[in-house]
Amino acid sequence: MTQLELLREMYLLTGLNDFLIVLSNEYNPQDWGYYYPNNKVIVIYTLNEDGSKIDKDALIRICCHEVAHHIQYHHTKRYKVKDGDEHDEKFKEIFAKLLEKYYNGNIPIETIEVIREEGLLYEPNSKKKRRPKRAPKRVRGNVH
Ligand SMILES: [Zn+2]
Repeated sequence: MTQLELLREMYLLTGLNDFLIVLSNEYNPQDWGYYYPNNKVIVIYTLNEDGSKIDKDALIRICCHEVAHHIQYHHTKRYKVKDGDEHDEKFKEIFAKLLEKYYNGNIPIETIEVIREEGLLYEPNSKKKRRPKRAPKRVRGNVH
């Protein structure tokens, strides 16, 4: 996918056209992508460590991540990004919505796994889900 094709897809996806995407034909050991809020520019590094190209789902995942930052910084009313806390719940929500829309609700499992590993999966009910299903030990034992 070329830079222009990706930009068009992201303009269509978001209904916005006030940002730019630069695809860098390099491997960056620090990160896969950056977003520069002041310039509204997204840079994506498209090579893996071994010099091979990242696949399309990875490109979309990285791109939607950076586009989510753009929306977070410039298109979210009554919300302000906190320095150093860019990956907050609002970010996760925007990111999740972009991927849902892009994939029509069928986000590839690999994408979900990577995002979960990154700690960026949007799980609004995660607290409820993590609650232990069995009663705590002190209730089950030592009843005389
Ligand atoms: Zn980020």
